[in-house]
Amino acid sequence: MTDNSDVTSPRELTALFREHNLSPNIRYGQNFLIDANIVRKIADAVGVNPGDQVVEIGPGAGALTLALAHQGAKLVALEIDRGLARLLHKLTNSYEGVLIKHGDALKMDWQQLIEEHFDINAPVKLVSNLPYNISGPFMFELFKCGFPFERAVLMFQKEVARRLVARPGAPDYGSLSVICAYYSTGKVLFDVSCNVFWPRPKIDSSVVLLKPDRRLLPVEMEPLFWELVKGVFRQRRKTILKSLKSTFDFPREELALLLQEAGVSPAARPEELAPSQFAKLAGIAYNVFSQSR
Ligand code: SAM
Repeated sequence: MTDNSDVTSPRELTALFREHNLSPNIRYGQNFLIDANIVRKIADAVGVNPGDQVVEIGPGAGALTLALAHQGAKLVALEIDRGLARLLHKLTNSYEGVLIKHGDALKMDWQQLIEEHFDINAPVKLVSNLPYNISGPFMFELFKCGFPFERAVLMFQKEVARRLVARPGAPDYGSLSVICAYYSTGKVLFDVSCNVFWPRPKIDSSVVLLKPDRRLLPVEMEPLFWELVKGVFRQRRKTILKSLKSTFDFPREELALLLQEAGVSPAARPEELAPSQFAKLAGIAYNVFSQSR
């Protein structure tokens, strides 16, 4: 093994795994990028200049990690698999700015990690080829802690990427789309074929760029916004009035008034409402509920 191992070469990657007694672990959604061109495209989307602060989730065997390290990133890479973290530690040894951390991205306090490892006055970027099995819950956790990144370049299963950036009225528009649009502006950058991974998954992927947006509500109102959005999409086929009624223990007439004040028809379906309408509704509900609770 050398510092300049090409981990995007299937031959070198499988040899490295053999040498370290490792094998891809399905439980951790391990599909490794074996296409230098795609790695370059993702790294370009992150846009790293020497000294830029970057967090990577699930670095795996280091395809992206090494590319970003080479560009001079100050990088913290969080990997749940101890064996891979050990391997990557060796592979990145010669890069001063790279720290490989063993841990679970679903349990991470991102604000704390940033304060611990970075200059908090400079922006931090986030990059990941996310394991398919955690992408939804991970994104909710990321937004819940306020999305403290200057940009995020993330690879998802294609369907999840479409859900994330879906617009009102689209069949894949749901709570993830609303929450995502509340905290950020997102777009799909490009699709990635399943052929560029080892082992090869059954599904294609997409790379998404997210940039934080101005949040429409004061922070104290956000828990109610989350409760409302998650609640009404549990009954996405019902009218907004009915789904609000099953989300909140509150008189139907009062909920109807609340909708009227927000300018939302009680007969509308949750999937027709824009993220800004959900925010408005939550803001009004916050004031009404706190007066009567
Ligand atoms: N970045 C590498 C690449 O592109 O080749 C590997 C990507 S692979 C799809 C996902 C990686 O995330 C694996 O290395 C896996 O072990 C790691 N992982 C899975 N669940 C994780 C979690 N909860 N926290 C941190 N890393 C995780």
